[in-house]
Amino acid sequence: MMKTTGPDGLLIRNFSIKRISSFRIGGIARSYYIPGDISGLLRFLKQARETNSDYYIVGNASNILFNDRMYKGTLISLKGFTNYIQLEKDGVTAGASLALDTAVDLCIGNSFKGLEKLSGIPGSIGGALVMNAGAFGSEIGDCVEWVKVLTHLGRFRTLLKKEINFTYRKAEPLEKYIILEAKLRLKKGQKKDLLKIRRDILKKRQKNQPLEYPSCGSIFKRPENNFAGTLIEKAGLKGFRIGGAEVSRKHANFIINRGKASARDVSQLMDVIRGEVHKMSGIILEPEIKFFNF
Ligand SMILES: Cc1cc2nc3c(=O)[nH]c(=O)nc-3n(C[C@H](O)[C@H](O)[C@H](O)COP(=O)(O)OP(=O)(O)OC[C@H]3O[C@@H](n4cnc5c(N)ncnc54)[C@H](O)[C@@H]3O)c2cc1C
Repeated sequence: MMKTTGPDGLLIRNFSIKRISSFRIGGIARSYYIPGDISGLLRFLKQARETNSDYYIVGNASNILFNDRMYKGTLISLKGFTNYIQLEKDGVTAGASLALDTAVDLCIGNSFKGLEKLSGIPGSIGGALVMNAGAFGSEIGDCVEWVKVLTHLGRFRTLLKKEINFTYRKAEPLEKYIILEAKLRLKKGQKKDLLKIRRDILKKRQKNQPLEYPSCGSIFKRPENNFAGTLIEKAGLKGFRIGGAEVSRKHANFIINRGKASARDVSQLMDVIRGEVHKMSGIILEPEIKFFNF
């Protein structure tokens, strides 16, 4: 591994992706780049276009299964210049790499209502927008007023909510862009009520999710009128293991890394789950996580 710090930010060569993946899985990336400011990112994009080099934006890497093989491009994190939040009279403007949970906490602290049910989701604002992250009947898309993005040609655009199709764990066309910041429009609420919702949700997550192990959260999307976890449990797969990847006994829609899981272990386990659930119920489970470099 070689690190270079300069006016353009931090560049790490031969970077072990495991270090940033919430699954603790992934091969080596040729480079990992954290631009120090927007000019560094713009210069990088120009060079990447000129040299036809591949790159991929990551947030907190809590919803991506990175392959074990080498990635010959550059992973880019925007945390060098988009880790901020600004309070407005009708909500907040948050940078893409701010932790979603930090935004939730700060909003509640300022009696802003709307994000509290997203407590404990370990993503960034950018990743949460791309995934339209949600929980307990609430989604980040519900609060979006606009999203400021950069095109891969280096042009700035502001997308209004009506230009984004927020659906279940999807927000087209955000994935085509580099998300820089978003305005979340929020109403005023009672701080003590919001705090109670947050505390209850964090307790539920602690009780029902295997947070003691690396994972990517829910592996499969919720099928219509059903729950992936219930189907997987009914198929008798709780505790089923391939290599270091195991179907959690605490929450069957979580695959946990018991220590040395590879991306192959996880993807094979997902195939078995899909096959068994389909055999039992006729339902085809759709992955919620993103696959990278497969
Ligand atoms: C324990 C646990 C619990 C979880 N609980 C929930 C839950 O309750 N609800 C839920 O919805 N999810 C949940 N998740 C999944 C995950 O946290 C969310 O999907 C989260 O929103 C992903 O954000 P991220 O920053 O980690 O995105 P990443 O995983 O880094 O990226 C996800 C996608 O977004 C893209 N992306 C990220 N940032 C940018 C950007 N700035 N510009 C352009 N593209 C970008 C990436 O390229 C990738 O395609 C959970 C995960 C874990 C590990």
